[in-house]
Amino acid sequence: MSFLFGSRSSKTFKPKKNIPEGSHQYELLKHAEATLGSGNLRQAVMLPEGEDLNEWIAVNTVDFFNQINMLYGTITEFCTETSCSVMSAGPRYEYHWADGTNIKKPIKCSAPKYIDYLMTWVQDQLDDETLFPSKIGVPFPKNFMSVAKTILKRLFRVYAHIYHQHFDSVMQLQEEAHLNTSFKHFIFFVQVPLFNTSRNVKCLKMNVMVLYGGFYMPPRM
Ligand SMILES: [Zn+2]
Repeated sequence: MSFLFGSRSSKTFKPKKNIPEGSHQYELLKHAEATLGSGNLRQAVMLPEGEDLNEWIAVNTVDFFNQINMLYGTITEFCTETSCSVMSAGPRYEYHWADGTNIKKPIKCSAPKYIDYLMTWVQDQLDDETLFPSKIGVPFPKNFMSVAKTILKRLFRVYAHIYHQHFDSVMQLQEEAHLNTSFKHFIFFVQVPLFNTSRNVKCLKMNVMVLYGGFYMPPRM
């Protein structure tokens, strides 16, 4: 859905993760964009007929990373050690960073530091060919779904922080339509079953309460 941002928001926080043009994953991305363009979010998150679920989740996860990268990239000047000395989403939620590998014990840090850790961590996962294979015929790992869920769960916190702490700046920049569309798409993707049928197989269906650790609605959506 990065197409929604056009050329105005070329500033990103981290380098954009490219899906090579001409690849199958690129075609999937174009398919998603075309469906999104029609405005039907429910349809847009559905696994296209005959496609591989893991690949569909991979392509969309990369795209959400790119979208958040752009959205946060537009407000980095407002998200500083002073304005956001802790990573929070409203007064009730404070996040401490741990990636479970390099940083096992959660550390309390500023929002810009936290988001830097978070986005770097996501970038490392997306660049790991054993987790996100880009070559045709290379299988996704068995734990792919849980890796993707962890990535999406963490990316959600950046939306939450932007909504709670920086929505005024987003409004000033007239980026709120992009933020709202991106967030709605994200929520549909993680909540709505990715199938048309009642196939009883793994799908994301993440609960926002689980994502957030409590009830959550963006304050001014
Ligand atoms: Zn901030």
